[in-house]
Amino acid sequence: MYDLIILGGGPAGSAAAVYSARKQLKTLIIASEFSGQSAVSETIYNWIGTPEISGAELALNLKNHVLYYKGPFLDILEGEKVIEVSKENKVITIKTETGKTYQTLSLLITTGSSRKKLQALNADKYEHKGITYCASCDGPMFDGQDVLVIGGGNAGFESASQLLAYCKSVTLVHRSKEFRADRITVDKLLENPKFKTIINAEILRVDGDNFVKSLTYKDKETGEEHTLETTGIFVEIGQTPNTEFVKNIVKLDDVGKIIVDPSNQMSSVEGIWAAGDCSNGKYHQNSIACGDAVKATEDLYIWVQKNK
Ligand SMILES: Cc1cc2nc3c(=O)[nH]c(=O)nc-3n(C[C@H](O)[C@H](O)[C@H](O)COP(=O)(O)OP(=O)(O)OC[C@H]3O[C@@H](n4cnc5c(N)ncnc54)[C@H](O)[C@@H]3O)c2cc1C
Repeated sequence: MYDLIILGGGPAGSAAAVYSARKQLKTLIIASEFSGQSAVSETIYNWIGTPEISGAELALNLKNHVLYYKGPFLDILEGEKVIEVSKENKVITIKTETGKTYQTLSLLITTGSSRKKLQALNADKYEHKGITYCASCDGPMFDGQDVLVIGGGNAGFESASQLLAYCKSVTLVHRSKEFRADRITVDKLLENPKFKTIINAEILRVDGDNFVKSLTYKDKETGEEHTLETTGIFVEIGQTPNTEFVKNIVKLDDVGKIIVDPSNQMSSVEGIWAAGDCSNGKYHQNSIACGDAVKATEDLYIWVQKNK
């Protein structure tokens, strides 16, 4: 029986593990992988104290910080996905995909979020065959080619900016009239002659042979269909919180984020806290994920002392 189980090994989970081990709570951290969404970023400029760091290095630093505390107060289970959480009286039981179970008095959920998949005919068929969800991982394979980016938020524009370094042209396709990305980012990219945008587009289908050859969309204003020839489609249409496995136990908001009290990160169920991108805070960043997880750990520490 643990005092605390932490689910997730991103910035939030890592911060919580460091704090809980230092407070000598008997802790287990379970992560399908130690990483974090920004691990794919070429450069992160807002990790305070470090003007520039690659996403991969930041992820490694976080993991090493957790490993530093592995010992009598911290067990680490990596490579295992949690599929179920249940609670009976004060005991919370965690089940993983391989059927292992673990019990704890308190739980902190920091399972973050995952990319939303493109919903269009053949989108599944062409995943990894021209459709990709990571510009910094797969972009170099499209050197000298005409590619598309789907999504008009910061992630879409950030991907387009990376791709412009080596692609022949980048066309950003967006479903509405207005971009959600920061104005300064949009304006800077629009100055690049290799960059173009298409707005009001409803994506209908992807076609090709073994690999992608084109994407067809409908102009939502005119109703006309257009086909764009392309070999690469980079999808950046937002995130879905990884909370499926707790939907029957804690309250979620309408997009599936865990509803927490922002003063202490406690969920709707006593003994369960959530932090980072899986929780319903208004803003999501690495530093916010860490800060929220620290807040939760401070709070649950006091709760565990009272309820042990
Ligand atoms: C492309 C991109 C670039 C970004 N750039 C920046 C930036 O420059 N600066 C910045 O501050 N923020 C940036 N962000 C946002 C930032 O990455 C997130 O806010 C942050 O990663 C959230 O941390 P988290 O710990 O809540 O979740 P995540 O980072 O999503 O980590 C979730 C963890 O939970 C694990 N997990 C998920 N489901 C399960 C399960 N069922 N069982 C066990 N483990 C599970 C995952 O393996 C992972 O370890 C970026 C995001 C993206 C997508």
